[in-house]
Amino acid sequence: MFTESTHIGRAPEGFCFYAVDLHVHIGRTAEDRPVKITAARDLTFGNIAKECVERKGIDVAGIIDCASPGVLRDIRKLMDAGEMAQQPGGGLRYKDRVTLLLAAEMEVGETEGGTSHHICFLRDFDQVSAFSDTLSHVVTNLDLSSQRCRGMSAQDLWQLADSVGGFVIPAHAFTPHKSVYGNCVARLSEMFDATALTQIPAIELGLSADTFLADRIAELQDKTFVSNSDAHSLPKIGREYNIFQLQAPTYDEVALALKGHAGRRIVANYGMDPKLGKYHRTFCLNCNRVEESPPPIFTCPRCGGGKVIKGVLDRITQIQDYEQPRHPDHRPPYFYQVPLQFVPKVGAVTLNRLLNRFGTEMAVLHQTPAEEIAQTVGQQIAENILAAREGRMKLQAGGGGKYGKAIGPEKQTQMSLFG
Ligand SMILES: [Zn+2]
Ligand SMILES: [Zn+2]
Repeated sequence: MFTESTHIGRAPEGFCFYAVDLHVHIGRTAEDRPVKITAARDLTFGNIAKECVERKGIDVAGIIDCASPGVLRDIRKLMDAGEMAQQPGGGLRYKDRVTLLLAAEMEVGETEGGTSHHICFLRDFDQVSAFSDTLSHVVTNLDLSSQRCRGMSAQDLWQLADSVGGFVIPAHAFTPHKSVYGNCVARLSEMFDATALTQIPAIELGLSADTFLADRIAELQDKTFVSNSDAHSLPKIGREYNIFQLQAPTYDEVALALKGHAGRRIVANYGMDPKLGKYHRTFCLNCNRVEESPPPIFTCPRCGGGKVIKGVLDRITQIQDYEQPRHPDHRPPYFYQVPLQFVPKVGAVTLNRLLNRFGTEMAVLHQTPAEEIAQTVGQQIAENILAAREGRMKLQAGGGGKYGKAIGPEKQTQMSLFG
């Protein structure tokens, strides 16, 4: 929580800025039962809260596996032990340092084909329990993350969340396998009715897209864009996040901000350059290669094959209304950040040294003077971090499930910044 920043200025009277990451997975329950198989074992409710507070500087985190009965038991225990408390404004407060929002990412399918993921946010423990009970009739193993709801479309899921008082955000909206635009439709109006469409406050951009790409689609002009980490391990929390302007870190305030109501709003998105995402460009499965020619590419120019995983940039180019983004007045700035894990030469030891010395990843990425970083981890790494901060890092696009790469600083300014 803070009230002033060089990027975004000063918060109005009565408001503060909060760093918010609305998409964090649980790996295991405290009883060591798996929730997300591919996620790290130490990604438990308690550890996430600690990581947010101690290493990331995240003030509000959306925990998106809360419909899992095992996770619900963990939450109950942490509340009974006094480590977490429900807030009057919704959400759970952990040791009075971070707010955890209860949410569930679910998979649904359209009758015309196509599957998509959506994050359903629920206000409190009773709401999420009721939601979980209903889902238990249509989900085979509700203990696991992001499970398919049998016989339910996106519209049905929206209806269910709405009926228990929650709201829905389409997750990673452009990714090729499980998303609204990537896998289902060219227009949201093809899958939601008019009421749902007005009530859905936001879409999640996903790591391979940003505001500049999403604002090429006309029907998204009124929607808020959220940039979240989709973290499957502790170090990835906060690799994308949003700065919310709120009066307090609660569910109700976050819901207002997503609608841009009553002075609550998102004032900045911090995200990876979409080139670094896993699905930015089309990937040919034959040639095992990320496409580089101008988008959209759906047939491999090398082998002529159509066995490809569609890129987010390629898909957006295919369905766009505008060739250049048209940003509505309410759209906040989108700042690129290269997570420390992507910065060349930053391994686990260096990462720990930086965090021990400067507190949080955000401090290192955006604020700490380069000279101080150089004193701690050497000039070359400091120059890499500075190049990333100033958008001077050469990037190679990702695709087909492989992250893009930060290769190194553009040559011309190297070292000059240290005088
Ligand atoms: Zn997902
Ligand atoms: Zn090919």
